[in-house]
Amino acid sequence: MEKFSERFSDRRLCRISGLFPVILICLLFVSLCGCSMQSDSSSSEKTPEESESATREVYAMDTYMTLTAYGASADDAVSEASRRLYELDAELSATDESSQIYALNNRLSDQVSGDAAAVLSASIRLSSLTEHCFDISVYPLVCAWGFPTREYRIPSGEEINSLLSHTGMEGISFDESTGTVTFADDQMMIDAGAIAKGYASDVVADIFRSHDITSGLISLGGNVCALGSKTDGSDWNVAIQDPSSPSDPNAYAGIVSCSDAFLITSGSYQRYFTEDGKRYCHIIDPSTGYPADNGLASVTVISSSGTEGDALSTALYVMGLERASEFWRNSTDLRFDAIFITEEGKIYVTEGIAGDFESSLAEPEVISRS
Ligand code: AMP
Ligand code: MG
Repeated sequence: MEKFSERFSDRRLCRISGLFPVILICLLFVSLCGCSMQSDSSSSEKTPEESESATREVYAMDTYMTLTAYGASADDAVSEASRRLYELDAELSATDESSQIYALNNRLSDQVSGDAAAVLSASIRLSSLTEHCFDISVYPLVCAWGFPTREYRIPSGEEINSLLSHTGMEGISFDESTGTVTFADDQMMIDAGAIAKGYASDVVADIFRSHDITSGLISLGGNVCALGSKTDGSDWNVAIQDPSSPSDPNAYAGIVSCSDAFLITSGSYQRYFTEDGKRYCHIIDPSTGYPADNGLASVTVISSSGTEGDALSTALYVMGLERASEFWRNSTDLRFDAIFITEEGKIYVTEGIAGDFESSLAEPEVISRS
């Protein structure tokens, strides 16, 4: 397969070898002051790009985010990006009463614009490209299982069947020229939770580039963008969380070497509840209405688009290993690589990234084209 020159990594904690101490220092500083503009003590020997950095921590979209930029405009870049993240959070949330998505779901408006329109349009396209495994119309089911409120419950089969009849992207019509959205029935609702952070990472990367930032890290929960390369020109090394130790941010399953790439992870460990010894995760299979349960613990997608990578990671998780591998083999409209970790701890990687991924847990099995 064509190898991606752009790569990524995951998650709550990125370990960036070499620069990790610098970033750690930034984070400590941020916790005291909110934001930092930092100069290295040996800056006299370094270029401006190497000596100036800024880090900002943001809590938005229900997750902790860390933005780090290197370069003369680093502070302006992270300031503008954090403002945009709060805006995106307010606009794309399904639960914030002032959001466009909330207004649609509660029939307060049938219009979307700006980011909400862009996300809806991308969602319709990506649902169709992922055999509807990514489907923002599953929201009534997400609610029935109690994920937005964390009041978890197991709906009856009857309730699930009834709710399934109010889902399906074919029930959403979107007129992009007017911004008008029409739902097939009164109970349909949408949720951008599986794509909003990926879209946000694209927005932040664009803001960084507009400030001439050629080296930066954007970590939005399980979504990471490694912008450019490290200031010394070498690849970023980003860790992928070990899904079997979700509460230990230092437990990683492997490291991806990458530059200019988005690495986005979906996994059952990110949100779930357990009842009678069985785990129910937050990713719903749109064809059954039940949480996906096919032996995967996590899927990490590596691509050149945050929006596509986010929709894909959710869709591949729903597909499960075999179907997702076949989907990757046949995919021509979407270019990506992926790392699959099973509940048994086995690791599978598509051949395009096999040479740039090292695991500390298990020897990865390579998924090849043929
Ligand atoms: P992610 O972590 O990107 O895989 O997104 C998971 C979130 O997206 C869930 O918490 C739900 O809000 C929503 N969701 C669940 N299942 C799906 C699905 N099959 N397609 C789209 N969104 C989903
Ligand atoms: Mg997703």
